[in-house]
Amino acid sequence: MDKEKRILNAILETIEEGIYVIDQNYTVEYMNRQMVELFGEGTGEKCHRLLNNSDTLCPWCRASEVFRGNRLHWELFIPKTEKTFALTELPLKNPDGSVSKLCIFRDITERKKREAELAASEERYQNLFENVGVGVYISSKEGRFLDANQSFIQMLDYESKEELLNIDITRDLYVRPSDRRKFQEMIERDGRVVEYEVEFKKRDGTPITVLLTSHVRYDHQGNVLGYEGITVDQTERYMMEKKLREAHDFMNKVIQSSPSPIMAADLKGNIFIWNRAAEETLGYPASETIGKMHITKIYPEGLAFRIMKMIRSPEHGGVGLLRSHPMLYVRKDGEVIDGSLSAAMIYDDDGNEVATVGSFVDMTERIEMERTLRSTQEQLLQSEKLAAMGRLTSQIAHELNNPLFGIMNTLELLKSEIPPENKRRKLLDMSLSETVRLAEMLRKMLSFSKPDQEEKGPVNINTIIDELMLLHEKQLRENSIKLTSELAEGLPEIYASRNQMRQVFLNMISNARDAMHEGGTLTFRTWHQDGHVYIEISDTGQGIDKENLNRIFDSFFTTKDTVKGVGLGLSVCYGFIQDHGGDIRVNSSSGQGTTFIIDLPVHQAPEQEQQNKLDKSASTQ
Ligand code: ADP
Repeated sequence: MDKEKRILNAILETIEEGIYVIDQNYTVEYMNRQMVELFGEGTGEKCHRLLNNSDTLCPWCRASEVFRGNRLHWELFIPKTEKTFALTELPLKNPDGSVSKLCIFRDITERKKREAELAASEERYQNLFENVGVGVYISSKEGRFLDANQSFIQMLDYESKEELLNIDITRDLYVRPSDRRKFQEMIERDGRVVEYEVEFKKRDGTPITVLLTSHVRYDHQGNVLGYEGITVDQTERYMMEKKLREAHDFMNKVIQSSPSPIMAADLKGNIFIWNRAAEETLGYPASETIGKMHITKIYPEGLAFRIMKMIRSPEHGGVGLLRSHPMLYVRKDGEVIDGSLSAAMIYDDDGNEVATVGSFVDMTERIEMERTLRSTQEQLLQSEKLAAMGRLTSQIAHELNNPLFGIMNTLELLKSEIPPENKRRKLLDMSLSETVRLAEMLRKMLSFSKPDQEEKGPVNINTIIDELMLLHEKQLRENSIKLTSELAEGLPEIYASRNQMRQVFLNMISNARDAMHEGGTLTFRTWHQDGHVYIEISDTGQGIDKENLNRIFDSFFTTKDTVKGVGLGLSVCYGFIQDHGGDIRVNSSSGQGTTFIIDLPVHQAPEQEQQNKLDKSASTQ
């Protein structure tokens, strides 16, 4: 072997690639060391046996092309080695004119694997880029999109990527172009922008709010190439927030406008709902309760704890519920009010207790109404009794009246027959005065059971008082009672029954006379104020004991002995005055005399009355 050949051999043995040569019969003429390492020794064998353990040509064989003089570069996976090779095949012209084939095998299995991995990873990234739920884009500094994913294109309603890549970002994308300048300033100063909220325009101009997160792309020299970023459409979030807010506002309005007080507190007792009705009923404004006051404050001590126990027990409408339970509340001013509470526990999604909500009904008015009803019923019963008694009294009075007048007439007759100096005359006078008293008593009894139903009309009270004073002055004087009066001039008329008014004052006079055994003064005063006429009748008599003051207007209440008093006078007076829309009050203490004050509404001319009604209804609207 000459020197050149040896050198060539040495080179062939040292290079990394496997090399072999075959003749036109596919017989292997030469294999270098790497080739032997790859396929085993095969010089002198058929190449298809060497490469594919086969007696026929390899299915991939392209030797014929080479024998025709072509050079080939191609890649081939050989199952026997499970490797991929880059093949270089060359024709070799032999001195005898035949052609051999030189083939160089370079193992590219590793490279192929890396390429495949790279391709797969690129695909993954591409997939991610396209399918990630947010808009992703790459843009140039000058304001053009270089790439964008489907989400971004759809978010802006463009028909294709090409269409989007053609727009001018500053002009066509930003609702306010100044926002793009602000964005560029920030990103070039900080290298990135995080969640910049900005308004973009869709293809048709509809604005959408997006959150923009972006960073700068630099070239090798560190110059800004453009920006990469993601955009998240906030429209849906805003819509959800709006819907949530609306739902919340609606609930709030429902709670606020409920006529029943509604309140809610967390498990620690901190109040977080307090509606307007609660403000009104309990007296605390929401600003003093929400987040500031403890719920226990509105209950008498220890009650809040019992309520929680009741809500948790199954006995009051089920676990977590308390149905219309009588309850007491303490108002801000300390007043305790009656109510009825309905409450419920609020649970979270996992069934844990988080808060309680309660609504209560203020029963004060109802209870008050029940009380009034009861007292009205009692009064009704009382008046039924009185009516029955009245009927009885009137029958008796009628029955007695005729014989009594018979007796009185007889006595008068006898009187005229017996001279005044006769001793019996005094007895006769006494009997006569007793019968007169009896007649007066009968009259009282009759007016109680059947009050005079005289028509009402305009009446001057001063005139009635004057008449009565004139009639009774003599009699009172005989009892050492001085009669005085201060009657207001120009006193307006009242609308009343003249007879009933007379009876009222007569009764007052006779009571005053009874109260002043030792004599005294009886004074009538009248005046007029704020549409009312006032009549004051005061005496300097024995007065009324404190414990009796509340009872003197009751029927059949009397402190007089059974012959003198029946206890109907003041009760009849009271009834008459009430019936006239007035009132009667008394001031008295034992030994200090007594003053009755009667007030009655001034009579109004029909037109005036009409006007007053109109004024009143206008002021209540
Ligand atoms: P009677 O005169 O039959 O007792 P009244 O209803 O007129 O019935 O009076 C009830 C009671 O009120 C009297 O019994 C008396 O105790 C008290 N009373 C009424 N007027 C006076 C008065 N001017 N001074 C003191 N007591 C009075």
